[in-house]
Amino acid sequence: MKNIAVAGTGYVGLSTGTCFADMGNRVTCIDISEEKINMLRNGQAPIYEPGLNEMIARNVRGGRLHFTTDYAEAMQDAEFIFICVGTPSGVDGEADLQYVRMAAETVARCMTHPIIVINKSTVPVGTGDWVADIIKRSQPEPMEFSVVSCPEFTREGSALYDFMNPDRVVIGSRSREAAEKVAQLHLPLRARIVMTDLRTAEMIKYASNAFLATKISFINEIAVICEKLGADVEEVAQGMGFDRRIGAQFLNAGLGYGGSCFPKDVKALQHMALVHGSHPSLLRAVIDINRDMRRWAVFNLRDMAGGSLDGKRIGVLGLAFKPNTDDIRESPALEIARMLQSEGAHVAGYDPVAMPNASRAVPNLHLAEDPYELAEKSDALLVCTEWNEFKQLDLGRIKELMKKPIVVDGRNIYDPAKMYELGFRYRAVGRSYAPESNGSNGVNGTNGKYD
Ligand code: NAD
Repeated sequence: MKNIAVAGTGYVGLSTGTCFADMGNRVTCIDISEEKINMLRNGQAPIYEPGLNEMIARNVRGGRLHFTTDYAEAMQDAEFIFICVGTPSGVDGEADLQYVRMAAETVARCMTHPIIVINKSTVPVGTGDWVADIIKRSQPEPMEFSVVSCPEFTREGSALYDFMNPDRVVIGSRSREAAEKVAQLHLPLRARIVMTDLRTAEMIKYASNAFLATKISFINEIAVICEKLGADVEEVAQGMGFDRRIGAQFLNAGLGYGGSCFPKDVKALQHMALVHGSHPSLLRAVIDINRDMRRWAVFNLRDMAGGSLDGKRIGVLGLAFKPNTDDIRESPALEIARMLQSEGAHVAGYDPVAMPNASRAVPNLHLAEDPYELAEKSDALLVCTEWNEFKQLDLGRIKELMKKPIVVDGRNIYDPAKMYELGFRYRAVGRSYAPESNGSNGVNGTNGKYD
């Protein structure tokens, strides 16, 4: 059993702290938000993550998991402190490190014994050294410490499973001894451990996310070409994915990536490259293609609505940036909702868990009780998030409820043949054989520009 402190009780910090407690360690999670800590003390996770509430309760009952706003209390006996605070995008796309700086300064002030500081937040290359400098400068009196980079690769929606079953654990440090202690912490996971230096560990995280984002933009570019040439991107992706050199994951054509990681991480890597005199043309293209997929949705809705969205009622199915989370950060659904509103459309939405967050983020977003109420109140439906419950809807009933049965499927969850059979006017991403599309899914002549 080790004593561990975790700074930040967001998606990463709370999963990390809870999983380490579940592995038998004594963990104290810290947050600067009293509201979050009070919720946690009352047995309520401030975020939605499948299985998290139950795992927190089990470990609190077992006396292994604690919550506080007080760093000194959390660090009292801790051998390790994980920094899991947010690193959002700054104005020029750079990672905003204000929360990391604040955490490092507080760690320095509250240190009473040597400690290993582990950066789990996604931070620009060089941040580990910067954090070490901040701690050295902020310590009331000199005390030994080490900085280790151990980036997080879990996915929201399956964070607990991913944490317990990682493909690899990346550990980078200038101190071999500290790196080995962090590796020991992870031994029960029986995962491959990649030991490297600080800067390389930080770069592995950015390169991994940028690669996955590139795969998504790649298949979306192929999808747009498929629409023009009469091919079906779903079958193209399947045919490609069987090739082990390519792999099937992240080849789902759709409205593009969102969430709290890919958009900001690709931008931050691009920013790092530009600042250091490099020309990240691939990253730029990845970002452009991703943005164009939001416009693809607006273009298709406008086109199917007869050329104007003014006064039209658009129902958005799914508001979270992906299924199984309530996270709406950089969600395609919300970006598209704002674009539709700016063209005069009335936008309503339904999501199994993200509606409270979404209604705070988008003014005048109407909410529906369920997909059927949404259909009844909409002139056209747009599928933005591939929640399982949307895949099994009674589509016949949806068709009956809608005045004009228009569906734009931004996640390719429905079978086009079935949609046409039911009488829908239906478009999907990169699937060209819509009867009304003349082999072009209605976007021929746009050159991929959806204005
Ligand atoms: P989040 O915004 O959900 O949570 C951050 C938490 O840190 C908040 O609760 C905030 O109140 C708290 N905080 C801010 N400053 C603090 C301080 N000085 N001391 C203590 N707590 C403080 O963020 P997140 O999604 O958990 O992401 C955290 C980091 O992990 C980011 O760098 C992100 O890029 C990275 N990451 C996230 C994911 C993911 O799935 N969300 C996956 C991998 C990596």
